[in-house]
Amino acid sequence: MSRGTATTYMHTGTGEMCYEMNKALTVPETFPIYLSSAYIFDSIEPMDKICDEGAPGYAYFRLGNPNSDAASRILAAGDGTETGLVFSSGMAAITTSLLAVLRPGDHVLASPVLYGETFYFLKHELSKWGVETTFIDFDTQKPEDYIKPNTKVIYGETIANPLMSVPDLGHLADVAHDNGALLFIDNTFATSIVAKPAKFGADLVLYSATKYLGGHDDIVGGAALGSKKLIDTIRFYLGLYGGNLGATESWLLARSLRTLPLRVQKMSQNGLALAKFFEHHPKVEKVYYPGLDSSPSKALADKQFEGNGYGGMLSVNFKGGMELIDKLIANLKLVHFVPTLAGTCTTLTYPPKASHRDLSADELAAIGITYGQIRLSSGLEDTDDLLNDFDQALEKL
Ligand SMILES: *Cc1c(COP(=O)(O)O)cnc(C)c1O
Repeated sequence: MSRGTATTYMHTGTGEMCYEMNKALTVPETFPIYLSSAYIFDSIEPMDKICDEGAPGYAYFRLGNPNSDAASRILAAGDGTETGLVFSSGMAAITTSLLAVLRPGDHVLASPVLYGETFYFLKHELSKWGVETTFIDFDTQKPEDYIKPNTKVIYGETIANPLMSVPDLGHLADVAHDNGALLFIDNTFATSIVAKPAKFGADLVLYSATKYLGGHDDIVGGAALGSKKLIDTIRFYLGLYGGNLGATESWLLARSLRTLPLRVQKMSQNGLALAKFFEHHPKVEKVYYPGLDSSPSKALADKQFEGNGYGGMLSVNFKGGMELIDKLIANLKLVHFVPTLAGTCTTLTYPPKASHRDLSADELAAIGITYGQIRLSSGLEDTDDLLNDFDQALEKL
């Protein structure tokens, strides 16, 4: 049948070429990007099989797509969970997962030392929907004293910003499970290279993939990893709320994960070197890093990180206030003030004016943030160059 030019342009070289690709004797070495929002069904039956019976195949991007599956498969394997999902941001992963399991009348037990928007969501947003959150200090208060019959989720972070404290994951998991609740752990700061929360009983491991997993300051994404049963529940809400990670971002994430073990290993080495350097510096008051003997979290870090390093995040309190920090930032040559973390370069942020700028002075003090404090994310530079940069910058103060 002859076709017009327009029809020819529409119907040549389409996705149907994948049928030929599937019969080819070779496959691409790298999993390609599938920029297709929908899939062709050659009859009605496969629609039922894929949508209702979980047969292999895809229908519509939001409900599942090859690149998101590739990225989540790598992530789940790395964290030792059955399966996982990727999202358009860390916050999409966190909010979708909480909304998937909570109902009005439920209760959440959480640390107040959480990523700013997570704290806001628990405190101000879930409360609108009839879910109450009790915030307790996991270092000094016992979760078993605050859990209630209606507690559905205990929520914490493996390494909590800004004092880099480490909660007892196994104990939180025991308290949650004895009560029929779930343990959600945000593992963004540690990554699976330093700690695998699922091994200590976490039911859901959450990530901002914007940070170490992406690792190059060029994608925003998130992930939730856990059992097939829990992830299937969350998958329904991902399809409903639509916080999906795009195909290109999923591909970039999968690509970045190839170097995650090497990056985090080097960042942990630089993190420890920086922490030791600052600890002995006369202009420094205190260093917060779980790998220092002076850290109250060292014992738990040793148990839960199992010799895999202590990560790249540290906070440093100087003998001075905002003026001193401002001069330090101006004096540094390699290290820049950037309000994010975990890229390839070492970066510095100033929590009272960046991540925690909406908090009052009292609220800042309550979680240990001072005006003489910086937070560092160690990068992949040569260790000596980093130490020299801070040395010369501090010398001039
Ligand atoms: C950045 C971050 C988030 C939020 O992730 P986004 O990708 O920015 O939405 C959540 N938790 C932690 C610990 C983070 O550092």
